[in-house]
Amino acid sequence: MDMMTMNLSQFKEFQETSNTVLVPIGMIEAHGPHCALGTDVLIPREFVRRLEEALGDKILMAPEVTYGHSWGLAAFAGTIDVSAEAFSNYVMDICRGFSNNGFTNIILFNGHGGNISSLDIVTEKLADLNVRTLTINWYLDYREDIKQITPDPGHAGEDETALVLAINENYAYTKGVGSHTIPLPKRFRFKNGGKTLYPEAFSGNAEAATAQKGEQLYEMMMKLIVQDIKKLWELERKQGG
Ligand SMILES: [Zn+2]
Repeated sequence: MDMMTMNLSQFKEFQETSNTVLVPIGMIEAHGPHCALGTDVLIPREFVRRLEEALGDKILMAPEVTYGHSWGLAAFAGTIDVSAEAFSNYVMDICRGFSNNGFTNIILFNGHGGNISSLDIVTEKLADLNVRTLTINWYLDYREDIKQITPDPGHAGEDETALVLAINENYAYTKGVGSHTIPLPKRFRFKNGGKTLYPEAFSGNAEAATAQKGEQLYEMMMKLIVQDIKKLWELERKQGG
């Protein structure tokens, strides 16, 4: 159910039947020359639209957290970086608010890699408050399956670009974009490293992306995401509520 458009009576009624909330977490960030700056918001939003159809009666779909943390791409125009400290505290306060409202299962649907370390802090704190969490980082969690459809994924790479095109073909372009390979693994960190590792603010073969591949990705990942959400509920049953 969409929290944004609920009134208080509808919210209270929903609270009586569900203790699961999904909070989309995004970022406004440079995504190559070719993808919308809001890519990391648009993709979770599309998954939420599909999840609403599949499981909307069981999950409160919370409004998204639009701005996140991006140390790596902060040097690029169009990136609005929130510090990891402020971001993790902010997300923690939002989640605490849901916990205070009786939501003991929180799904963090994260569209952006730079948020992961902050979300780890949040989910550890929430577990200590007896809140179960499932964090979905779609580009990592389902990477092997993603590669079957889009063999050269990455930041605004083949997979992410395809997912954006499947939402709206005006939100990305592929012609002449080419591809980039990250020259060093992430364990090397140095000043303005993002500019070196992501020369044009993207990695992977963006040029190979199509809306059709994007649709295939959504359909494939939706099955896996629903399975993961069911595992969260199974964990709850095992723990005895
Ligand atoms: Zn992204």
